[in-house]
Amino acid sequence: MSQYRSVKGTRDIFSDEMISWKHVENVIHRVAGLFGFHEIRTPVFEYTDLFQRSIGATTDIVGKEMFSFRPEPEGRSITLRPEMTAGVMRAFLQGNLAASAPVHKLYYIAELFRKERPQAGRQRQFSQFGAELLGASSPEAVAETIGLMMQVFTDLGVQRLKLKINTLGDLEDRNRYREALREYLEPYSGDLDEPSRERLSKNPLRILDSKNPEVQAVIAGAPKLHDYLNRSALDEFERVLEYLDRKAIAYVVDPFLVRGLDYYCHTAFEVVSPELGAQDAIGGGGRYDGLARQLGSKSDIPAVGFAVGLERLLIAMEKQGLLRHIGPVAPAVFVVVQGSEMAADAVSVCDALRRAGISAEMDLAGKSMKAQMRDANKSGAAYALFVGSDEVMSQKYGLKNLKTSDQEPLTLREIIEKLAALDRVRQ
Ligand code: AMP
Repeated sequence: MSQYRSVKGTRDIFSDEMISWKHVENVIHRVAGLFGFHEIRTPVFEYTDLFQRSIGATTDIVGKEMFSFRPEPEGRSITLRPEMTAGVMRAFLQGNLAASAPVHKLYYIAELFRKERPQAGRQRQFSQFGAELLGASSPEAVAETIGLMMQVFTDLGVQRLKLKINTLGDLEDRNRYREALREYLEPYSGDLDEPSRERLSKNPLRILDSKNPEVQAVIAGAPKLHDYLNRSALDEFERVLEYLDRKAIAYVVDPFLVRGLDYYCHTAFEVVSPELGAQDAIGGGGRYDGLARQLGSKSDIPAVGFAVGLERLLIAMEKQGLLRHIGPVAPAVFVVVQGSEMAADAVSVCDALRRAGISAEMDLAGKSMKAQMRDANKSGAAYALFVGSDEVMSQKYGLKNLKTSDQEPLTLREIIEKLAALDRVRQ
């Protein structure tokens, strides 16, 4: 064993688990395609001020969780991305995508970095799948975005998820509410925990996110955001809910759901899973019409998006037994070679099969035939193919069906035809 260990809060994914990841990623790509979302990749690091400006200086992410550094002592600070929305919006504005079409529907699967205290379901490097719909934030756009997220969950078979949804109204309403909330909370400041007390002056809305039961008890009697919202914001929210009803997406309206980041407005939502313990949020998102302007755009750009944590999604799937049926991908053929002098012929046979689109493997460690047969069975291959001196001489190879043990001598061309035909039947 080496003395080197992976960095705290990071992990390696080996092939068994990789199969589950690929399965999840394939479903994401397929469903995103069904909804007409296109994949985007942005750099792993951005200038630090992009995140400070967009996520908000008073948030935990910007305040204490960013991995920031200066590549040149005098140069600008850069940060490993702690979330994707800011980078996607930056790319959208920089690439002037709005010039080509009014609405862009983008999605990503990406690695994120946050300096959090590692625990189950919370890492310092983690992955998210997310989508950003830019150029529209109508109730239809919001429902479509939530619909994409929920269909991924449905197609993966994940059960018992709870979609919590709320409206934050527009900026003016929220500012009025913030003051009312501050007024209500100030007399209770002694009952709040340290982080909440800190938030009281900086951003009291964030206290509503607290998971601490004592803080929650104080919050229970707090004024409700909905009482401070204007009629049109509430009407719009009603229409979002109507669309969700039409799509048969179940939800719970949670008037205390505010989400931590500064850029959200109007609809905000979160999905929680009872499978996840303390870190029960599997994903969340909302509208962020003002972010573009915050990043220097001349006007607001209506936008709505979400992000889902893939590690937590996989934990929930594992607990619900959804990963057990996803076995490793077995080769179609395991080539068994009789002695090292036949190895070159076996290599050629393998290559011919692979060129014909048939997956093939062979022993690479000089094992005995008996050991190779054991490996062939263990690999889950459908067939073993024998390469010995007789076979090479006659150009007919024994093709053994590993399920039935039937064996027949066939030329390479016959083998390819037979296996390709079987493959067509399976498809
Ligand atoms: P957020 O951007 O904070 O709303 O996070 C969206 C989702 O990403 C969460 O619901 C989690 O599933 C996941 N997530 C956030 N932070 C972490 C982390 N440190 N480790 C693992 N997953 C995370």
